[in-house]
Amino acid sequence: MISHSLPLQADTQGYWLIVNQQRLYWPEAQHGLHFSRMAELVPLFGEPEQSGALGEFEGKPVYYWVVNDQRDDEENWQNPRQLLRYGDAVFELAARAVQVALFMQTHRFCGQCGSAMHLVSWELAALCHRCGHRCYPRIAPCVLVAVVKGEQLLLARSSRHKAGFFSILAGFVESAETLEQAAIREVKEEVGIDIDQLEYVGSQPWPFPHSLMTGFIARYVGGDIRCQPNEIEEAHWFEPDALPEVPPVQTLSGQMIEQVKQQIAGNKKAT
Ligand SMILES: [Zn+2]
Repeated sequence: MISHSLPLQADTQGYWLIVNQQRLYWPEAQHGLHFSRMAELVPLFGEPEQSGALGEFEGKPVYYWVVNDQRDDEENWQNPRQLLRYGDAVFELAARAVQVALFMQTHRFCGQCGSAMHLVSWELAALCHRCGHRCYPRIAPCVLVAVVKGEQLLLARSSRHKAGFFSILAGFVESAETLEQAAIREVKEEVGIDIDQLEYVGSQPWPFPHSLMTGFIARYVGGDIRCQPNEIEEAHWFEPDALPEVPPVQTLSGQMIEQVKQQIAGNKKAT
């Protein structure tokens, strides 16, 4: 549980995640979370404008520290995506640090009455003392859908991706929609295809800036591929042994593509 009740002291010891503009301080030579006393970091970053407890790593506390200044050491700051290689536990803490920093940056004033907001001490929330309005960090659920037709997998290239790079379909959940409804709607909108038999695979926090990815494998029911203009550049059915460049296995989409490959290979063996 994230708590903001502790004022951090110069001798506070733990792992530190220093955030600046959605990036983390992670110099090239650093190969894991940085453990130190707070006082050792002050010469580098000044007194923290915002800081607090974030969680635990290997039994020791983890703190975040927000640096708002423009930095002139660009090379020392990394996007959380680059920290996927240190494993799920480190990536999740990194994701939480940048999301907490963004939450505080975007909730300084009450959206209802315009007064200053204050962080409460018992949970991660911002509260307006004037009108009582309370806000929590924003989390945007997103569905990833791997559509399977017999022994083929549907992959699409979004207009944001370079030529040759494909992934499964993705889209944000809308208000008052279930994850399954969002998956069915997104696939229909993006490629004009109907699906059923949705099977939940798993989820992954994705701090760009505050998504929660949820994954489904689904069965093709009908329809021909018709790409949504301005969203999807191209989409095709691929055989598992002839896939184009796809996301790495550290990402949920990469894991799902791998899972579908194995499922199809297993089905082939069985028949
Ligand atoms: Zn208010």
